[in-house]
Amino acid sequence: MKAGVIAVQGDVSEHAAAIRSAAAAHGLDAEVVEIRESGVVPECDVLLVPGGESTTISRLVGDEGIDREIVDHVAADKPILATCAGLIVASTDANDERVDTLDVLDVTVDRNAFGRQADSFEAPLDVDGLDEPFPAVFIRAPVVDEVGDDVEVVARWDGDPVAVRQGPVVATAFHPELTGDHRVHDLAFFPDGADGTDDADGSDDEVAA
Ligand code: GLN
Repeated sequence: MKAGVIAVQGDVSEHAAAIRSAAAAHGLDAEVVEIRESGVVPECDVLLVPGGESTTISRLVGDEGIDREIVDHVAADKPILATCAGLIVASTDANDERVDTLDVLDVTVDRNAFGRQADSFEAPLDVDGLDEPFPAVFIRAPVVDEVGDDVEVVARWDGDPVAVRQGPVVATAFHPELTGDHRVHDLAFFPDGADGTDDADGSDDEVAA
């Protein structure tokens, strides 16, 4: 399995570790490639758009021509996980003209909604498909204001959607790569439990470094 992490900005190594760990739980070896230029996305089975600063990420993926490749990846129904700033970039409306959204996730976001309340916090979060709460780390996180008809909300915090799925796109307002718990990566990349060796219940004790 080849996994691409958009590496123009943001947490790359933590996501790489979580992807490898999730794949290993399914008996698969993930080759993780860092993507900074066009031409690599088409070779990837799964993609990850990490957090960071959405204005910067959207500008850099646009400059490099990676934006169109991500859109094509989604159109081909291949899994993609977008976290925090990645969610903002994937959305249809970031409520900020500096973010050139990819429009692969039919949601409207409020970029720094949580940031104004609390810069950063961790909370146990109930996520559909996971047996136990997920330790969700929110860092200047966006809130999803509106979701389209085809978008499934898989987690809420304080009533607001903070994890959503639309077809092959899974997006979280929080950072799932920071706690050594790979279950969200598993949900995104192995939605059917893949070969059935693990069903994303977190029961294996492999932990991302
Ligand atoms: N607030 C950032 C933005 O608007 C996102 C923060 C993050 O990715 N942790 O891009």
